[in-house]
Amino acid sequence: MIQTLQVRSSKQTELIDITRPVAEAIQKTGVKEGLCVIFTPHTTAAVTINENADPSVPKDILMELNKVVPFEDRYQHSEGNSAAHIKSSLVGCSRTLFIESGKLLLGTWQGIFFCEFDGPRSRQVHVKVVKG
Ligand code: ZN
Repeated sequence: MIQTLQVRSSKQTELIDITRPVAEAIQKTGVKEGLCVIFTPHTTAAVTINENADPSVPKDILMELNKVVPFEDRYQHSEGNSAAHIKSSLVGCSRTLFIESGKLLLGTWQGIFFCEFDGPRSRQVHVKVVKG
């Protein structure tokens, strides 16, 4: 069974902490040992893992990504959101995590972030738990 989380972004670019809803999705399955695959089915969004203790960290990540991939350039894609497509590919649309003792195996400072690069929009994140 795949569970789908609904994520609502409120800015053009934004990192949204989804650690809790992902953990809740895992709890619903009752799986104690296994893998959790997190996948977002969008071409202008991504999923990453990084520090969620200090809110400056996701802000800095966005600030630098926006410098590396400027919003305006001589892009050919007519929709006008090439920067968002490029950031999505750089960061990646999925992550796989370990489940140990029914919980996500994350480092003390790690959290899971949905990365919005072309918001604000309503988005989806699929979560699949595999026992093993
Ligand atoms: Zn596009």
